[in-house]
Amino acid sequence: MAFQPEVVDTSPTVSDEVKYSTCYMCACRCGIKVHLKDGEVRYIEGNPDHPVNRGVLCAKGSSGIMQHLSPARLSNPLKRTGPRGSGEFEEISWEEAFETATGWLGEIRKTDPRKLAFFTGRDQSQSLTAFWATQFGTPNHAAHGGFCSANMAAAGLYTIGGSFWEFGEPDWEHTRYLMMFGVAEDHDSNPIKTGLGKLKGRENAKYVSINPVRTGYSAIADEWIGIRPGTDGLLVMALIHELIKAQKVDLEFLVRYSNAPWLVRQEPGHPEDGLFLRDEDGKPLAWNRKSDKPVNALLADIEPALSGVYEMPDGATARPVFEIMANRYLEPKYSADQVEDITGIPAETIRRLAAELAHAAFEQEIELDVEWTDWAGRKHDTMIGRPVSMHAMRGISAHSNGFHTCRAIHVLQMLLGSIDCPGGFRYKPPFPRPCPPGPKPTGRPDQVKADSAMPGPPLGFTTGPEDLLVNEDGSPARIDKGFSWDHPVSVHGLMHMVIQNAWAGDPHPVDTLFLYMANMAWNSSMNTKGTMEMLTDVDEATGEYRIPHIIYSDAYASEMVSYADLVLPDTTYLERWDCVSLLDRPISTAHGPADSIRQPVVQPNRNVRPFQDVLIELGARLGLPVFSKEDGSPAYPGGYPDYLVNHQRMPGVGPLAGWRGADGDQHGKGDPNPDQLNRYIQNGCFWQHHLPESQQYYKHANKDYLEYAHGMGFIPSADQVIMQIYSEPLQKFRLAAQGHGDIQPPEHLRRRIGDYFDPLPLWYEPIEETMVDHEEYPIHAITQRPAAMYHSWGSQNAWLRQIHGYNRLCMSDDLAAEIGVSDDDWVYVESHNGKIKAQIKTMSGCERNTVWTWNAIGKRRGAWNLDKDAAEGEKGFLLNHLISELLPDKVGGRRMSNSDPVTGQAAWFDLRVKITKADAGEGVSEPRFEPMKPVPGVQKKPKILRFGEQFLPQGSWRRKDRS
Ligand code: SF4
Repeated sequence: MAFQPEVVDTSPTVSDEVKYSTCYMCACRCGIKVHLKDGEVRYIEGNPDHPVNRGVLCAKGSSGIMQHLSPARLSNPLKRTGPRGSGEFEEISWEEAFETATGWLGEIRKTDPRKLAFFTGRDQSQSLTAFWATQFGTPNHAAHGGFCSANMAAAGLYTIGGSFWEFGEPDWEHTRYLMMFGVAEDHDSNPIKTGLGKLKGRENAKYVSINPVRTGYSAIADEWIGIRPGTDGLLVMALIHELIKAQKVDLEFLVRYSNAPWLVRQEPGHPEDGLFLRDEDGKPLAWNRKSDKPVNALLADIEPALSGVYEMPDGATARPVFEIMANRYLEPKYSADQVEDITGIPAETIRRLAAELAHAAFEQEIELDVEWTDWAGRKHDTMIGRPVSMHAMRGISAHSNGFHTCRAIHVLQMLLGSIDCPGGFRYKPPFPRPCPPGPKPTGRPDQVKADSAMPGPPLGFTTGPEDLLVNEDGSPARIDKGFSWDHPVSVHGLMHMVIQNAWAGDPHPVDTLFLYMANMAWNSSMNTKGTMEMLTDVDEATGEYRIPHIIYSDAYASEMVSYADLVLPDTTYLERWDCVSLLDRPISTAHGPADSIRQPVVQPNRNVRPFQDVLIELGARLGLPVFSKEDGSPAYPGGYPDYLVNHQRMPGVGPLAGWRGADGDQHGKGDPNPDQLNRYIQNGCFWQHHLPESQQYYKHANKDYLEYAHGMGFIPSADQVIMQIYSEPLQKFRLAAQGHGDIQPPEHLRRRIGDYFDPLPLWYEPIEETMVDHEEYPIHAITQRPAAMYHSWGSQNAWLRQIHGYNRLCMSDDLAAEIGVSDDDWVYVESHNGKIKAQIKTMSGCERNTVWTWNAIGKRRGAWNLDKDAAEGEKGFLLNHLISELLPDKVGGRRMSNSDPVTGQAAWFDLRVKITKADAGEGVSEPRFEPMKPVPGVQKKPKILRFGEQFLPQGSWRRKDRS
């Protein structure tokens, strides 16, 4: 009988309606098509036209259905009735919830707006939340960036005017050598996966992953470099050393696009030592070899010197940045031979990597036949590319030396001439912006007044001591001590310090802690047990909680819910309007700017409201400017969609850039368009502008692009963006530490500022590591992000839990043998801050003295409406218990935060531990806490959670035990 192939319908019709929206199962923000059947979510598919994912959908994105149907969903506003942490609440009406919140917040605003600390977690509406804080008048606001990727963002924005991930990406089409630092599988998830697919499909391309652990993207790297945690900066500086020594540097690129030729005053003791020399108009000077005198370095067609010592007409001595940089990195301590012991990478390998980078950049040059015009009006017939690209993320960011390490990576890119050229790292509009971009942070005491909005946003970019948010005595003005001498460049704030500082009343007490989507009572805090204690601690003098009021908004019964006094239940991401805005952190690609929306694909079946609507209504009820009209009525009675369409941050500029103007025929700037949201929906819920070919590269110096960007309001002028190898703002802070200027750091921080505010990237041992005994704690401990999970959301999702039901402590076979353990054994892991018990797994792709685990899988028993004996609570564990938010040693009589001293980024990965074998006992992880009670209104826990049976044809097989 002839073979009859089975015919399988690979695309059966599963739905009767399809609605477009944007995924929110991680930070990547892919476009989705949500299939509905009889009004219920049936299936989620990637949107093939969407600029972020081109149809690709990951396991998390597909599992959005179970996020939407999670039994942990909250269903009513809640008011606490028992002690904090008890989970005892009563369900209340929205009216009562609003009255309670406005009662607390109204009183604060009338008296001292600083007493509101408003911090959001993985919120994707930060342009709204920050604006709301500004209108409320509190400087105490930030989102979760301070504990995620602030080092990476700050270093990029102060150095090249863009950054990895949201503000830049490798040129996946042309790159031939990709070096990725410290990335497991996280932000920019689908674009990286598809990009790696393209790169691996080219014969002459190589992908090198530098990470202590070979997981995630590293698994498919052509070469894996298992570096010791926290030493990446030193490796990069050794690569720079080797390249400069071999004279494999793109000098033309440096002269054209960076501050390499700018002259730096070299007069130790002078109040302007280390600053750029400038002409009377404030323009930086370079030494022109043509005329043999100093000239405006910004002029085109000069021949600036990159080396030498020069005497200025006023007698000042100066050297060009390039010479200062080259002298630093040519020091023997940066040679491959010297760094191999610290990094664990053999010198021979480092030299080979440097040679490979140079070979790819200079021997495999790409030339595209595309004409373009540079900032000075000079025409170029082709675009020259150096096909080396780089990417870095959490593994670099989460160390206390991460800011400088990330700056070093950008300097390496500049030396290779591989920024925004074919094959290199490419900016995503609205970037590049000037280094650093504006605005400055707001929140000095003179900018915070009762019953008033602040004159600017709480977060921004400091350029010297005069921009700090400090009190007259130099003490921090913000609750998280951001933008103070503790952490002067804390561009994303320090969310990990808010509870500790609010509990201690240092630098000032707060009345209300208002959190959104931030699981601070569990996996989002360092020192989790201590944090729970601080949240419940009572002031003996008053008998009240030391943090008097806590308002929390979340869609799910996370651990944090039980510690709130007032719970405002949010919707799921499929039930709301939302906006991924160019005013915030957009979804642009290197090909052009883009933004997107979410639309409610289904209506909530619970008494919940989108947080953004709630915030807008609170703003109106509190009478905040912009959110209320003069007669006291709401400015946006239609809630968030009304705000998205009609709010203008400045004339013609609103949250959404597409289809502006009365007829929707403008983008970027234009009057509000009442039909704007419909236009987005018709276009698959996103807007994108495709830059013409001539604007695709060299955006930092491309006349046509710069004029376009200026016209769109992305940049203040069409001047070229000059990359900053040498950072003058950092030197200004250092000069203050040396005693220069009127604004001085407190004595106990003078040395710290002097040490860490180096205008050139430097490497130092991670700070906590310098304070713990390496003999006692010989092992590094870090976390990685699994491909199938995004923080605590994923580990309560019925489908994703089947992939990672609990986590293990992974270690190399060698380390396991040394400790005397093997697979499935239990161990104690101890740090200076705590002790946990975990089950181990051995593997070969792990640095010898590093252990790691997936983050945020361990859950407190009973939380998220999971069974109290669910694997996540029984066997899952958190490293967070071991990590302290405070450094072990004191500086000037107090313990500083466990953060990068420049940016305040949480130093999660500086952790050192010791490990000993434990008895398996009951085979459960430690520490163990009392199981959490289900909060009122969560769904009755089904015995088995199933999805889809209701869609089976009538009469087909159904499970009898369907719950
Ligand atoms: S990568 Fe993130 S945003 Fe994209 S589909 Fe997966 S979970 Fe959704």
